[in-house]
Amino acid sequence: MEGADWLRTRLTSLHCATCGRSYRDGQIRVRAQRDGLSFVDFVCRACGREANAIVTVVGRGRAARLEVGELAESPPGARSPSLGPADVLAMRRFLRRFNGDFRSLFGADGRAGGRLGA
Ligand SMILES: [Zn+2]
Repeated sequence: MEGADWLRTRLTSLHCATCGRSYRDGQIRVRAQRDGLSFVDFVCRACGREANAIVTVVGRGRAARLEVGELAESPPGARSPSLGPADVLAMRRFLRRFNGDFRSLFGADGRAGGRLGA
């Protein structure tokens, strides 16, 4: 299995389907690799469009080549927002007071009918 860095370098030849600009290394994120398949996210710096594709590495060593599935446009906001210091501090405050009573937090049925659902 080729590494994520190797894969990202080769995927910079791909272009955004919306504006045609090529993706650069920092705009390509290899989400997961398993059994020769890689799941890759692309974010276009020029127009902000997000896409994803399944990439297959065929062959090994110098003969290795990529087969890239069709770039599927991701719905707006599909990427998870990153956590910041304020989120960590908020969780710290919460855990300091949390008594372990998940039932009152989420409700008896686990569907956030408790304090979180209010
Ligand atoms: Zn674009």
